[in-house]
Amino acid sequence: MGGMDLAANLEAVWKRIERACEKAGRDPKEVSLTAVSKGHPPEAVAALAAAGHDLFGENRVQEAKAKIPECPSGLRWHMIGHLQTNKARDAVRLFEVVQSVDSLKLARELDKQAEKRGRVLPVLLEVNAAGEASKYGFSPERLLAELGEINRLPRLEIHGLMTMAPWTKDPEKVRPVFVRVRELKKRCEEKLGAPLAHLSMGMSGDFEVAVEEGSTIVRVGTAIFGERPCAWRPRPAAEGG
Ligand SMILES: *Cc1c(COP(=O)(O)O)cnc(C)c1O
Repeated sequence: MGGMDLAANLEAVWKRIERACEKAGRDPKEVSLTAVSKGHPPEAVAALAAAGHDLFGENRVQEAKAKIPECPSGLRWHMIGHLQTNKARDAVRLFEVVQSVDSLKLARELDKQAEKRGRVLPVLLEVNAAGEASKYGFSPERLLAELGEINRLPRLEIHGLMTMAPWTKDPEKVRPVFVRVRELKKRCEEKLGAPLAHLSMGMSGDFEVAVEEGSTIVRVGTAIFGERPCAWRPRPAAEGG
């Protein structure tokens, strides 16, 4: 897929976000778009960057570590996938935000690594709102129980919640999941006594419904980049010229 196509796809996704905002009486400026580049090469990222887009999401540290240095500089990268604690150090170096903090243990490790790096790390707490066994994330009960402790970690800043709705052909079916997470955010705000800015909800199949229900960050891969060919791997270093 060429650069022109990607720019057109990006524009089409923004149009759909704007329409969803209009329907819900929201300002499209409240919504940011994380272009999910997992599985796609640096050239695809560069094509979107040339179209003026600067926020990208990756779900694997290994892939991001190889890809980011091959992409234009000055882009913002968010981690959106499950992170093992032994990758926290790299994550704190590579990513501006970790959207997928899914356990207290991981939060503690990210805090430790952020301290070592002398930075503050904005995070979103991932919620497994539909209780799917196959998904990572806090159950709502656990989140409320552990929120105070996460909030006391000095190097993490909780910016909101993230969720991945169950896959479905009919996005209307997952509307209640988005509503549940929005309500959970309210309960977290009451518990913290402070507002949380962000709700990261909505992917290619369901982002309009997510925006209608208050999402401030959508994470869109396929609708921008097309089908993921396979996992992207860096070219082996050229040997002997
Ligand atoms: C892959 C992925 C996305 C994007 O999925 P698409 O259906 O390709 O838009 C969004 N969020 C997370 C956490 C992902 O892993």
